Amino acid sequence: MPLSLDDDIQFLKHVGPARARDFGKLGIKTVRGLMFSFPRDMSDRSSIFTIADAPEDRPISLLVTPLGVEEKVVRRRGQWRGRSGSRLTITTFEMTDDSGGILEAVWFNQPWLKERLQGMRLALHGKAVRDGKRLCMEHPQYELVPGDAPLESLSFGRIVPIYPMTGSLNQAAWRRAMAFALDSRLELLEDPLPAGLVAEKRFPDLRAAVRAMHFPDDARQWHDARRRLVWEESLYLQLALLAARAHMKNDLPGRAFRLGPELDNRIRRLFPFKFTSAQDKAVREISRDMASPLPMCRLLQGDVGSGKTAVALYASLAAVTNRAQVCLMAPTGLLARQHYDTFSRYLETSPNARVRLGLLVGGMPKAERQFTLDRLKNGTIDILAATHAVISDGVEFHDLGMVVIDEQHKFGVAQRSLLVRKGVRPDLLIMTATPIPRSLALSVYGDLDLSTIDRMPPGRKPVKTLLYCGRDAGKGWSLTRDELKRGRQAFVVCPLVEENAELDLRAAGEAHRDLGAGELNGFRLGLLHGRMKRAEQQRILDEFRVGKLDAIVGTIVVEVGVDIPNCTVMAVLSAERFGLAQLHQLRGRVGRGAEQGYFLMFSDFRKGESGGRLNALLSTASGFEIAEADLRLRGPGDMVGDRQHGLPPLKLVDLVRDVELIADARESARYMLSDDPELAGREHIPVRRELVRLYGKQWDRLGMG
Ligand code: ADP
Ligand code: MG
Repeated sequence: MPLSLDDDIQFLKHVGPARARDFGKLGIKTVRGLMFSFPRDMSDRSSIFTIADAPEDRPISLLVTPLGVEEKVVRRRGQWRGRSGSRLTITTFEMTDDSGGILEAVWFNQPWLKERLQGMRLALHGKAVRDGKRLCMEHPQYELVPGDAPLESLSFGRIVPIYPMTGSLNQAAWRRAMAFALDSRLELLEDPLPAGLVAEKRFPDLRAAVRAMHFPDDARQWHDARRRLVWEESLYLQLALLAARAHMKNDLPGRAFRLGPELDNRIRRLFPFKFTSAQDKAVREISRDMASPLPMCRLLQGDVGSGKTAVALYASLAAVTNRAQVCLMAPTGLLARQHYDTFSRYLETSPNARVRLGLLVGGMPKAERQFTLDRLKNGTIDILAATHAVISDGVEFHDLGMVVIDEQHKFGVAQRSLLVRKGVRPDLLIMTATPIPRSLALSVYGDLDLSTIDRMPPGRKPVKTLLYCGRDAGKGWSLTRDELKRGRQAFVVCPLVEENAELDLRAAGEAHRDLGAGELNGFRLGLLHGRMKRAEQQRILDEFRVGKLDAIVGTIVVEVGVDIPNCTVMAVLSAERFGLAQLHQLRGRVGRGAEQGYFLMFSDFRKGESGGRLNALLSTASGFEIAEADLRLRGPGDMVGDRQHGLPPLKLVDLVRDVELIADARESARYMLSDDPELAGREHIPVRRELVRLYGKQWDRLGMG
């Protein structure tokens, strides 16, 4: 039988059944699987030192011969008494090398080394420590160096791979199996990337890259290998995402809206301000998509208050002018209502606009709901602000041409497509105020194009962010009282106890009571939490809005996007229990009017991991920087929720470091698909085969497998 990369590793030299089982536990079953199991770390042992000039206190490699050996057996007392392992054998070798220096190498409980190492030449790796006059190395890793042969080792005199150890798999076993697999089978590995592309990108070919990931000649070679493999991994992901999106769009064209300078002027006149350059850029990108017959799929991201809603209104009006209906879907009734109000306010100033707004939320009186549904169906509503209530079966549009979704991360992809299907290939614009780093956006939202509003409208005062730990808390409350006395308002947020509604209720209730009796005594406090009926929540918020309450104490139900300009203080209790992005969101709730806003974090942790996290909020106001810090600290899992579902885990890509490679791979993927949408061309067939291998079912589902 010819050798194959798909061979079971059990039959590979240096492996055998026991090690094959241990490899299996790591998910490694075939020779290919082994080759693509890259080291978790590399250790640079390429310089070999001499004993005379060995640096101390860091791992080094030496080439030595033993001069003499001494063995000591000590009895251990105490907890070890009576146990069979109560004797400790200490084997101490005196080593020397060409420099004439002396080193003591010490091993514990390996008495057989006494015979084994005598008279041999040895490579040692470990930390040398000076103990009085002697230079000493405890438990070095060693390797026998036969005769005077030049050092040709897998573990010394080179950059050495470090693999995850388990069971019988120590580093030596890994390295031997890997070296053998590479030497005997690497030539079976075909490079799926077109040779022209590899040359253009100045990548090593796949065989060279795989070898260099394990046994590089130097750091540069390893670095180039990693670059190529990260790029390649990103390419497959981007191809899958872009193909999924092409599939979603299908071959039917959507609608090409007619836009132009005249319409542009007319819409801009509705706004009492000039768009920022960041808004202008987003408007240009959106207009281009709208004018194209391909349906728009665009993610608009920007911090709270950066002006996304204004941009969304611009797009909506452009669609309405083209006689299409627009649906703006928000995650809660409160937010849907708020969008409705905001849009009404903008449109009030221009009675000529004659844009008809509608609202559809849960819990509406039956007759009102039916009236809205009728108008929606016969086309007498132009823009509908709604919750996911709009997804239900009974809701029909006359001609839904654009879907705007606020706060995408609250909706699943499935909900999104249900709404989209109520129109004929409508344009889709998704707004999110939880900015995510570009690398993550490209990887996870890769089926969407990205517009970013990365600066605030002029004249906004940055919110003052303050952290109060332990006994400092008093200062924070005194600041809060000062604001309330000046007629401003405050939100006080306690962490949500998600897993336990009773506890949650109690925590919010206690904070409300304690503050009312203590720090905020004499002020009118409202209580708001998730267990309340919606109508009750609404009533409390309305009272707050009209100034009947000075402060609201509650769990995190104070929603993203709730806009109360007179509220200048956002105080967060036990701030360390919130995610950075969440805290940043809360910070965005205040300072929306002309007054200075304050964001107060109360925490008992100034130091340690939690404290360090909170400091990120003190040092930057940019949601993007915070998202990056969050990504570094917590990884991508929390940020993307169910979006990651169905995507294979990325093995090599580092979302923090590799953003440029990901972006570059996306461009290539786009180019490849525009050239050859089915990847059926001869030079793309290996790429497609790789995609089927990686994405199997999903790729098949796209009808491209
Ligand atoms: P987002 O939806 O990103 O939270 P909004 O569109 O609601 O932001 O804008 C936040 C506030 O800033 C609103 O009061 C809005 O009227 C105002 N605003 C938006 N764009 C501008 C601008 N270009 N210049 C001045 N104010 C603006
Ligand atoms: Mg908004």
